Amino acid sequence: MEYIQSEKQKGECIFCQVLNMPDGPENLVVHRGSRAFVILNRYPYTSGHVMIAPMAHLASLEDLDVATRSELMELTTAAMVVLRREYRPHGFNIGLNIGEAAGAGILDHVHMHVVPRWAGDTNFMASLAGTRVLPESLEDTFNRLKKAWEER
Ligand SMILES: [Zn+2]
Repeated sequence: MEYIQSEKQKGECIFCQVLNMPDGPENLVVHRGSRAFVILNRYPYTSGHVMIAPMAHLASLEDLDVATRSELMELTTAAMVVLRREYRPHGFNIGLNIGEAAGAGILDHVHMHVVPRWAGDTNFMASLAGTRVLPESLEDTFNRLKKAWEER
C-alpha cells in the first residue's frame, strides 16, 4: 500500500514528469547531469530563475546520498557561472524551501532555487502591485541558457 501511494505521488510530480519528456522549451530542462538536473522555473521570479533537483524523487536534503548532494551543489555553482555570463546579474538568491510551512511549492521532490537579482528589481515590481513583468519570453530564456550552458 505504501508502495502504491509513493508511486502515485511520483506520477503526479512535475519534476519526475519532465524527466520523461525530451529536453527542450516544452519541459524546460536545460541540463541533465548523472544524478541531478537543471530546469527553468515556469513561473520565474526574475528572468533566468532556474532550479536544480535530483533525478530521484526525494523530499529533502538529508534523503540524498553524498554524491547526489555534491552534484546538486556543483550544478548550482555551474548555473551561477552561466547566469552571470549571460545575464550579468548584480547578485543571486539561492536556497531551498523544505516543507509547506517554509513555502515549498513542490513538497516531495527537493529542489534548489537559483534566482539572479538586479539592483532595484523588487522596487520595480512592487510599483506594479505584484505584477511580474519579465523582459523576455520563457522560450527565449530557455534557448539562451541552453546555448550558454553548452558553451560553458
Ligand atoms: Zn519527483
